[in-house]
Amino acid sequence: MNTQRDQSWPVPDGVFGETVTEVEHYTDRLFRFRLTRPASFRFRSGEFVMIGLPGEKPVWRAYSIASPSWDETIEFYSIKVAGGPLTEHLQKIGVGDQVWFRKKPTGTLVLDALLPGKRLWMISTGTGFAPFASLIRDPEAYEKFDQLIVTHTCREVAELAYSKTTTQQTLEDPLVGEFADGRLTLVNTTTQEQSPLMGRITTLMESGALYDHLGLPALDPEVDRVMICGSMDMLKDVKTLVEAAGFSEGSNASPGQFVVERAFVG
Ligand SMILES: Cc1cc2nc3c(=O)[nH]c(=O)nc-3n(C[C@H](O)[C@H](O)[C@H](O)COP(=O)(O)OP(=O)(O)OC[C@H]3O[C@@H](n4cnc5c(N)ncnc54)[C@H](O)[C@@H]3O)c2cc1C
Repeated sequence: MNTQRDQSWPVPDGVFGETVTEVEHYTDRLFRFRLTRPASFRFRSGEFVMIGLPGEKPVWRAYSIASPSWDETIEFYSIKVAGGPLTEHLQKIGVGDQVWFRKKPTGTLVLDALLPGKRLWMISTGTGFAPFASLIRDPEAYEKFDQLIVTHTCREVAELAYSKTTTQQTLEDPLVGEFADGRLTLVNTTTQEQSPLMGRITTLMESGALYDHLGLPALDPEVDRVMICGSMDMLKDVKTLVEAAGFSEGSNASPGQFVVERAFVG
């Protein structure tokens, strides 16, 4: 329990005040936590909400919901920024503490924003894996697509722990496992530390190494759909690449062949 913060602030209008049920730290920069889920809270897998900590003037920050829409609790996957207005405090939460989040979820990384297709590619760097942790655990994704491929690129191997364990648990899950079995593939790549597949995802796409690794043809707007979430550089480069391949961008109002969301501002 975090005793440094006063947890007794009244929850403001339009905000849920929920209790931390689980915290797991992966590295000195990354952790995940779970909250109780209010019965009235509805969201679509892949959406984000604004999170804050109890206080007079909370700092609100966007967070992708990492758990699927059917789950009884809500999971988030978080960075720890040294001196970051929210995360310097958020990283100290413990079981029993309160976290606030605004009631209205939103976002473009939703199945509704994509036209029907055969394969769903989810391209991520860093905490950009979070919305895909939600989508790969949603049976609806397997109803809409034959195959799900999620790529997660980080600098170091230890930063891949969350995507590896979440994907493994999805394959073993009693509910989603039977959909995901043989249809969900995780591709991990690193840019600094040595690992079986090294390089920026754009480099691996351009060279064709990604497709060779998977034994799949290069992206084709006829059959493939793409979701992109990560740093601005990565978004820009992957967007340029898929647009050059003939993909058109989608939104909630007008579904398309690919959608983009940044994993942080900066
Ligand atoms: C749509 C959207 C969804 C987001 N979802 C998540 C999420 O699921 N998990 C998460 O941890 N963050 C997420 N973020 C980022 C989040 O909103 C905050 O920026 C982050 O929690 C840090 O907050 P802070 O107040 O401590 O520092 P801030 O003042 O917000 O950030 C300080 C600096 O830290 C760096 N930074 C911030 N966030 C990240 C990050 N995630 N990865 C790497 N560097 C970062 C940037 O350089 C930024 O300028 C999301 C942002 C957006 C726009």
